[in-house]
Amino acid sequence: MMRLPKFDYRVPKSIPDAVKMIGDAGSDAMFVAGGTDLYPNMKRRQQTPKTVISVTRLRELKEIRGDASTGLVIGSSVSLTELCDHPIVNRDYGFVADTARQISTPILRNMGTIGGNLLLDTRCNYYDQNYEWRKGINFCMKKDGEICWVAPSSPKCWAVQSSDLAPVMVAIGARVKLVSRNGERMLDAAALYNNDGIQYLRKKPDELLTEIHLPPRNGWRAIYKKLRRRGSFDFPVLGVAAALNLADDGSVRAAKLVLGGVAPAPIEVTEAEEAIRGTRLDREQISRAAEACYLKARPLDNTDFLMTWRKQMTRPFVQRALEELVHSSPRVA
Ligand SMILES: Cc1cc2nc3c(=O)[nH]c(=O)nc-3n(C[C@H](O)[C@H](O)[C@H](O)COP(=O)(O)OP(=O)(O)OC[C@H]3O[C@@H](n4cnc5c(N)ncnc54)[C@H](O)[C@@H]3O)c2cc1C
Ligand code: SF4
Repeated sequence: MMRLPKFDYRVPKSIPDAVKMIGDAGSDAMFVAGGTDLYPNMKRRQQTPKTVISVTRLRELKEIRGDASTGLVIGSSVSLTELCDHPIVNRDYGFVADTARQISTPILRNMGTIGGNLLLDTRCNYYDQNYEWRKGINFCMKKDGEICWVAPSSPKCWAVQSSDLAPVMVAIGARVKLVSRNGERMLDAAALYNNDGIQYLRKKPDELLTEIHLPPRNGWRAIYKKLRRRGSFDFPVLGVAAALNLADDGSVRAAKLVLGGVAPAPIEVTEAEEAIRGTRLDREQISRAAEACYLKARPLDNTDFLMTWRKQMTRPFVQRALEELVHSSPRVA
């Protein structure tokens, strides 16, 4: 049985307390919410904070306010189950609830939070192993080693961004609020991620994620399609988030296409977005967008399934996403 290492556990009761605690604890401290990502990582000695600061008592982080006309503010500690069940989320941002329903299992969704999901550690077959397994291959660059086993000549780690909600938040232009002792700042969800498996976030370690701001709907509709081995629970090995804003005549005013599970960060495919802007999105236009996404997806051999097959699946997944979006009611998607 894998055991947690020893660590100091702190439970602040206010946001100022929480950011002071992490500032005082220094670089060896991390926040924890549901712990469904951090605690298994600590057991495998992938992440080894000396101080763990729980955000579970911070009531402000559990609120959801607003609606489709004003935009929705979701506290970072809202659980995935609450997201799945919340009436306004389901009524006005149904694609967020649908995406949350595809994450892990019901029990893990009771514990796991939206904030923890957006800040998930990147994943790789050579990294998501216990300490002895990793020691057996002399570790890798992401933790304790020097080489990348996936791309041995690469100076960079290619561990995969595997959050289901991250590509969706990037596609709809969500923003996140980060608070530290030095004040607070708002960041586009796209700017939260860095395309490097080790330094995968642009959030500073002492910044607390407090809120996720979804923009007003303003005619946008969105959808998420996920490729995984088991439909019951598994991380995505390809995720396609698509958002469309259609004019009254059905032509595309604006589009966003973002791929997850194929790189250390969500990848926006601007080539596909430009290809379909202004068109009526018939079968040919949809194929052009799917082709652009296929060309941009460069998965490596470090997750489940063959990388060549994952790349090929980009085409039908983008096709399905766009076809369903075009034929859906904007209220539902
Ligand atoms: C078996 C299994 C299957 C899974 N399947 C999926 C899946 O299919 N799709 C998917 O996306 N995820 C999956 N997960 C990952 C995880 O369960 C979810 O992503 C969950 O939402 C993580 O939330 P958490 O609150 O438990 O995160 P935690 O483990 O508490 O934290 C995750 C990270 O976020 C940081 N953090 C958390 N909250 C804050 C905050 N407020 N401010 C600053 N930093 C913070 C922590 O320091 C840590 O680095 C799976 C996990 C398991 C164990
Ligand atoms: S991509 Fe390379 S460096 Fe990164 S976790 Fe995998 S093996 Fe390690």
